[in-house]
Amino acid sequence: ANPRPFNFSAGPATLPEPVLRQAAEEMLDWHGCGMGVMEMSHRGKEFISIHEQAVATLRELLAVPSNFHVLFMQGGGLGENAIVPMNLAGPQPGGLVDVVVTGSWSKKSLAEAQRYADARAAASNDADGRSAIPAPGTWQLREGAAYVHVCSNETIDGLEMAELPDLAALGCRSPLVADCSSHILSRTIDWSRAGVVFAGAQKNIGPAGLTLVFVRDDLLGRALPICPSAFDYSVVAAHGSMFNTPPTYAIYVAGLVFEWVKAQGGVAEMDRRAAEKSALLYNYLDDCGGFYRNRVALTARSRMNVPFFLHNESLNDAFLAGAREAGLLQLKGHKSVGGMRASLYNAMPLAGVQALVGYMKDFARRHG
Ligand code: PMP
Repeated sequence: ANPRPFNFSAGPATLPEPVLRQAAEEMLDWHGCGMGVMEMSHRGKEFISIHEQAVATLRELLAVPSNFHVLFMQGGGLGENAIVPMNLAGPQPGGLVDVVVTGSWSKKSLAEAQRYADARAAASNDADGRSAIPAPGTWQLREGAAYVHVCSNETIDGLEMAELPDLAALGCRSPLVADCSSHILSRTIDWSRAGVVFAGAQKNIGPAGLTLVFVRDDLLGRALPICPSAFDYSVVAAHGSMFNTPPTYAIYVAGLVFEWVKAQGGVAEMDRRAAEKSALLYNYLDDCGGFYRNRVALTARSRMNVPFFLHNESLNDAFLAGAREAGLLQLKGHKSVGGMRASLYNAMPLAGVQALVGYMKDFARRHG
């Protein structure tokens, strides 16, 4: 069979080919039980074993400490924007939420939190065109805030925090909430700095419909009375993510991806590859003589999502059409930003980035 094209979608995104093959093979009959995974009761022993294995492998990959619960939820990143304040903000008036605005996603988190709490931007890069991340020392954090929200990788703008902020070092005692949707499993997480970490699955992990939530033990039991039971972290934790029917097929595929990551060498290897792949593309963008350009400050560039612009934007359609023909899919930038965006998640091989840079060089030669 012909090799599959390389798919640079920002999400739902490319998955490891061996995972897709295994899922296809097991579609009609999982491990000889006579049922496909989609057809199993979530309370039967077959699915329970799939679920438990996925949680265990995920805990191992990210070295999740025992005082954190791993919850498999639904509602995606935008769902969590409401679920987090409903769980943590505390009764109004009074509940303070500080949000560090570094791009489109944290801006949405701020707007949603304002429906449930006295939420404010602690900092914002609106004014500088989202080219850099405001230094933590400049964040205006309020005493007694229920939590501080960051998006550690801004998928649309292509900005990534080099590490989770150390709030304690800033003299802040509030828990940190981090939206890691678009770079989870590409690097380790410093759990000593985190209160809640959440991530939609549809980038680095598996099918859309599953949301991973990691909640520190002491943050359970604070939900507002209006919080739906299915979204109350303490209810979900008490039922082992089985209070309601979980997204079973998405959990199964996520489990296959976790095993794949482990077999490749774990998160440390994903981290090494992310550095290698993104450096290849950024180095070309910086050295190409201006035909293409990335506008993000060197220290804030995302290793997962690389937005770039053609100097001559009238060539955009020709660039995308030629890319498709060359087997390079979904390179169009987000509609709010324009230009191009290449997402380089864990399942994107180095060969895909090499093919992309090769195509870009060739296109620039033909149109320069
Ligand atoms: N946060 C981030 C960082 C994202 O990249 C996305 C999706 N692209 C979201 C939140 C929203 O996720 P969902 O569409 O699953 O609600």
